[in-house]
Amino acid sequence: MKNRELLMIPGPIEFTPEVLRAMGLASTSHVAPNFIEVFGQALERMRDVFLCPSGQPFAVAGSGTLAMDMPAANLIEPGDKALVVNTGYFSDRFAAVLERYGADVTQVNAPAIGDAPPLEDVEAALKGGSYKLMTVTHVDTSTGVGTDVKSLAALGRQYGALVVVDGVCSVAGEALYQEDWGIDVALTASQKAVGTPPGLALVVAGPKAMDAFHKRATPVRNYYADWNEWLPIMEAYEARRPSYFGTPAVNLVWALNVSLGQILDEGMDARFARHRRLSEAFKAAISALGMKQVPVSPDVSATTLTAPYYPQGVDVTLLGHVKEAGAILAGGLYPPIKAEYFRIGHMGVVNQSDVLATLGAIETGLSRVGYKFEAGVGLAAAQAVLTQ
Ligand SMILES: *Cc1c(COP(=O)(O)O)cnc(C)c1O
Repeated sequence: MKNRELLMIPGPIEFTPEVLRAMGLASTSHVAPNFIEVFGQALERMRDVFLCPSGQPFAVAGSGTLAMDMPAANLIEPGDKALVVNTGYFSDRFAAVLERYGADVTQVNAPAIGDAPPLEDVEAALKGGSYKLMTVTHVDTSTGVGTDVKSLAALGRQYGALVVVDGVCSVAGEALYQEDWGIDVALTASQKAVGTPPGLALVVAGPKAMDAFHKRATPVRNYYADWNEWLPIMEAYEARRPSYFGTPAVNLVWALNVSLGQILDEGMDARFARHRRLSEAFKAAISALGMKQVPVSPDVSATTLTAPYYPQGVDVTLLGHVKEAGAILAGGLYPPIKAEYFRIGHMGVVNQSDVLATLGAIETGLSRVGYKFEAGVGLAAAQAVLTQ
């Protein structure tokens, strides 16, 4: 019997055998010609995955939180006004990061947990103040809420704010067209839909963001995140020249390049469509099983994860039974409702069989905890979507 459990959490996700093999290549110098070539290629591929041909890519050792730190450290000067479109835990974090660099932060909140702030509210806020920058969490991994990044970015542009998108749970999964949508900075981390083990912060900054960075009057108040240090390094790798500021995560960069190649082989639009379809199947099953979801409507639901509330009388012990049945899921994260819901990530290499196996494990878990439902009803609902 296979003793491998499916890892179905919203990051880290499962990695392809090719990506994992790249992690195990013999170690080399960060200035070896073969590594320079691979890093250079990975940076070029980042532009294609973020769909931002005129962007400046940065790949730096660190987690997604460093990727959030970078635009804040490099674009904010003390007293700058910043607007945070808040959809949950990671939006709260962005506000805290911006404040750390002296930003005067205003937040636009959603009318309820699981909802996104209405566009009119965001526009009213933008009208009311001259903001240097606004942040949008594309998918808030804590709530499963997805935002209308395209419309929000258009508003930001209209009112002259740099648009920064936290795409940690979206880039390479959720449809995101950085350049077409006028997003100035998009960022992610290696371990989510990009499909590389944890440890790389990935940021693409468009021309307007780089311009604002070059026009700073005060020094960047973070030594490690300073683009003055990293920009020459990224440029050197792309020009296939050796350079050094901080040692790159050599094996992770190898793995990243393999994963980005696989993503581009699938094709971005095909990849977005696959995530949408699997998500629809998953969410249909959850509804058929009688569970509500944290996002209040399909309009504000992410496609990279699903966040169901536990049914009446069921709690976090469900997840132990689901794990025993073969799938690892994540508990709640957003403090006000933490104990009331759980999360399933379905991004990256995830396929139809993974979705069905996970739903099977959820049904087994539900029956173990004594929840009454018609066995197979979730699987049937998912199959109805998948066989369409
Ligand atoms: C995971 C996540 C982060 C934080 O990334 P870490 O790698 O855990 O630091 C930030 N924003 C979103 C939307 C995330 O999903």
